[in-house]
Amino acid sequence: MKIEINEERKEVLVNGELYVKHEVKSEPVEVKPKLSKKWGGIVPHVSWSKGAVSPPIPSSWNTEGEYAAAKRINEYDYGLIELKSLKDAGLIKAYRDTSGDRISGNYSAHKKASETLSQRYLISPHKNAYNGKVGGFEVLILKGDQESFYYARLWLEVMSKHFPDRKHRGVKEIASGGRGYGNLAGMKDGGAKVALLTEAFFIDNPSDYITQDEMHAMWKEFFERAEEL
Ligand SMILES: [Zn+2]
Repeated sequence: MKIEINEERKEVLVNGELYVKHEVKSEPVEVKPKLSKKWGGIVPHVSWSKGAVSPPIPSSWNTEGEYAAAKRINEYDYGLIELKSLKDAGLIKAYRDTSGDRISGNYSAHKKASETLSQRYLISPHKNAYNGKVGGFEVLILKGDQESFYYARLWLEVMSKHFPDRKHRGVKEIASGGRGYGNLAGMKDGGAKVALLTEAFFIDNPSDYITQDEMHAMWKEFFERAEEL
């Protein structure tokens, strides 16, 4: 976090001698990064169908922090918090929750979201689920989407740096009919130049969980480094 001290310079006389006094006028404020690329986000899934859900947490798993506090977590709720914190920090311009649109079909919902956001760079931060045991991260892009490929690789690199013990599952290029195809094709056809569907951890495996703070720090580095691509 970059901080800027808001201070005032004052000259004061003490026993006939002139001193320069710096007075801090307010709490340090966070300076939002100036990013030229306009990123936007699409909340994964919808409020009435929240995507993959973690199992209730057995006491034997002994997890700590927000995961344990939530008892169960799902892709939609996690994604909302994740994207809101990125927007509040100025790391993305806007994000969209498609729940209110009541559009059926991932393609149509994502195309409309992409058009509405009008950001050229889009992320949709999903979470995986399989058998409660496996873990790791991967990123999905449309097959042959060279532009998105560079950013997908960068995302994996930053994830590896922040979470070196996790399994790196690579970039998955998705062809028509594949997992997430409608989401990705909708984002692109709605005007996005770059469309990434990220799967940062397995939500059904508590030992693979990434806290919101850790995730935010990873994204911050990703967006800053994405400026150079
Ligand atoms: Zn999902």
